[in-house]
Amino acid sequence: MADIIKLLPDHVANQIAAGEVVQRPASVVKELLENAIDAGATLIKLIVKDGGKTLIQVVDNGIGMSETDARLSFERHATSKISCAEDLFALKTKGFRGEALASIAAIAHVDMLTRKPDSELGVHLKIEGSKIISQEMVATSKGTSISVKNLFFNIPARRNFLKSIQVELRHIMDEFHRVALVNPSIEFHFYNNGSEIFNLPQSNSRQRITQVFGSKMKDRLVPVEEQTEVVKVSGFVCKPEFSKKSRGEQFFFANGRFIKSPYLHHAVVAAFEGLLKADHYPGYFLYLDVDPKSIDINIHPTKTEVKFDDEHTLYAVLKSAIKHSLGQFNVAPVLDFERDSNLDTPYAYKEKGAVLPKISVDATFNPFAEPAEPKKAVGSYQKPNVKGWESLYSNIDEDIEKSSFSSVHIESEGQWQSSMYEEDELSQGSGTTFQLQRKYVVSTIKSGLLVIHQNRAHERVLYEKFLGEITLKKGISQQLLFPLSMTFSPQERNILKELQEGLANVGFSFEKLEEETVEVTAVPAMVSESRIGTVLDQLIANHKEGFGEDSISQADVLAKSLSKNLAVKSGEVLDQESQMALVNDLFGCKEPTLSPMLKKTYTIISDRDLDKKLD
Ligand code: ADP
Ligand code: MG
Repeated sequence: MADIIKLLPDHVANQIAAGEVVQRPASVVKELLENAIDAGATLIKLIVKDGGKTLIQVVDNGIGMSETDARLSFERHATSKISCAEDLFALKTKGFRGEALASIAAIAHVDMLTRKPDSELGVHLKIEGSKIISQEMVATSKGTSISVKNLFFNIPARRNFLKSIQVELRHIMDEFHRVALVNPSIEFHFYNNGSEIFNLPQSNSRQRITQVFGSKMKDRLVPVEEQTEVVKVSGFVCKPEFSKKSRGEQFFFANGRFIKSPYLHHAVVAAFEGLLKADHYPGYFLYLDVDPKSIDINIHPTKTEVKFDDEHTLYAVLKSAIKHSLGQFNVAPVLDFERDSNLDTPYAYKEKGAVLPKISVDATFNPFAEPAEPKKAVGSYQKPNVKGWESLYSNIDEDIEKSSFSSVHIESEGQWQSSMYEEDELSQGSGTTFQLQRKYVVSTIKSGLLVIHQNRAHERVLYEKFLGEITLKKGISQQLLFPLSMTFSPQERNILKELQEGLANVGFSFEKLEEETVEVTAVPAMVSESRIGTVLDQLIANHKEGFGEDSISQADVLAKSLSKNLAVKSGEVLDQESQMALVNDLFGCKEPTLSPMLKKTYTIISDRDLDKKLD
């Protein structure tokens, strides 16, 4: 039989390698920025169009390349950074694998201009899908400029796999943060579709953190400093009261490179023991310096996963250094850093005057008589626990009249209606409900017991309400008497800008979005003033985490996010009216069976099931 093994042609090998190195536009950004840093640049410009799908350009003032080097740089395994295996254990540069440019050039249109400081002329090189299109000598400024256009032009499956422009831009910003935070002595400019979103002058690491995440960071940082034989730790942790439910501002850098390490993350969390609420994560920016011999960076093509020789010692050093800092800077446990939202005054009530409670005395009351109506006692027992819920519905009732989009709105007439059930099935419901475990709302219907998951059901109701408002632009807005000032980082403001139209449709309105301190001038009627901050923070966090990456539209993402944030949670007490309203509203939905996150909203336990159990 003939031999069947062939060596792959270079351009095919490069495309395969590209699959590992370049997952999305952000990967190109990372590689180009790292090359610029390795080239000793003191000024780096990043220019992006359409989330990097159309253009990614990095311009640096570094050492540049000669004509031959420029040509060679696009070959696979071509690098100036190492020459033998031993060099791998003394790495001072970000790159060393010599495959980034080759990979990028295999799957995009690349344009490179480069000049060494001592050469008079530079080189202009054009490459498309690994093929050199042109090469000429040109006058150009010292340093290197690489433009990457039409990423994945020759791999349609990969190109189609890219997410929306906003999502890709967010990934690019993440990479940019990672590089900018660990190189404060380099000046960075970042332009997106022609406007400058970051302008970071040379500074130190504390200033760089505030440049990137906004001046609100200034008062949050607690310095961490420790030097041992194994590792030098420096950087900052955020005070525990600023810990967040979402992951986000958590950065480890090892020898000048951003790394991911669940193990070391655990060390930080352990140092915060007793200071954090459940499900809250501390923010941190920690820079570790170890002997290059004791760290293996070469275990993954993107180099964010690394292996330390002595991880256990690092863990211990990190934990004790942070504990020490938290102690030294007097960050004592804060017992009550989140107010109980049960104590908040619902928005609609704030405007109302106080009403004297009506007390009627039952003159015929006989303490020794049998209680006539035990039911009442239960009802009035639950009443005081009503949250903003009741006002929420009273607002919405008014809204229904104003809005023509009643199919999505809450109908609290007490008449059950459903597209799923025969009219008589639900109308034979008892009309009474009760709450089980503060988690389920239970009612009876003709065929048995209806058990509704209160959180998911309310999410569904709100999701359809918000989706309707966003598409029909019918949100009921509540003008704030005094605009609320909130500070956001450039990335957060960018997300707000992305969402601005949808947010306006549900009732939010902002001013000074260009400035660090944004003014919130109006909010949806159902968002109480005290919750605006949390709602917006959560909304932004959801988007950062790619909450809606699989959503079909931005409206969908926003509606999901808002409904998740505002829905009644498990563990919250609902009074009778709210329970009924929830049942009605759920079955008024177009898709009552599933929550927006596609979980079941209710189940029915039939009398046959019960018969079987009791057999
Ligand atoms: P690596 O960074 O792993 O060496 P790359 O494919 O990223 O591999 O780059 C190949 C080579 O091209 C580098 O080793 C470097 O010599 C050169 N190079 C790439 N980008 C630049 C730049 N911005 N300035 C100067 N030289 C560069
Ligand atoms: Mg490189």
